[in-house]
Amino acid sequence: MVGEPQADCVFCKIVSGDIPATVVRETERTLTFRDISPQAPTHLLVVPRTHHADAAELAAAEPGTAAELLTEAGAAAAGEGLAAYRLIFNTGAEAGQTVFHAHVHVLGGKPLTEGLV
Ligand code: IMP
Repeated sequence: MVGEPQADCVFCKIVSGDIPATVVRETERTLTFRDISPQAPTHLLVVPRTHHADAAELAAAEPGTAAELLTEAGAAAAGEGLAAYRLIFNTGAEAGQTVFHAHVHVLGGKPLTEGLV
């Protein structure tokens, strides 16, 4: 069923507590934790508790939760003391998506002015 946990999904396992993560924020609908392979001094992931393959599918199924990813990303960035940060939604394997559970990357703590990729 749409949104149900998937047995082979690493982020579903983090949401359920089966895999440990460094959680920095949580709400009824979202979880924010540190990326295991940080690409910047601050690298967080904000995920919905429900399973959707990517952000577009999440937005179609649960627009309120999709919007909450953005408010939580902003709150997490503020919590890290970031005045500037970058949000990234990789969507599809050819765009670099490796975990097919919707998420937004929050990156900051170093200059990010060199371009988008
Ligand atoms: P994607 O490439 O946009 O799908 O991003 C997936 C992110 O999840 C990558 O930056 C990975 O480093 C991160 N990641 C994968 N497994 C874990 C984990 O177990 N804990 C925290 N982050 C993870």
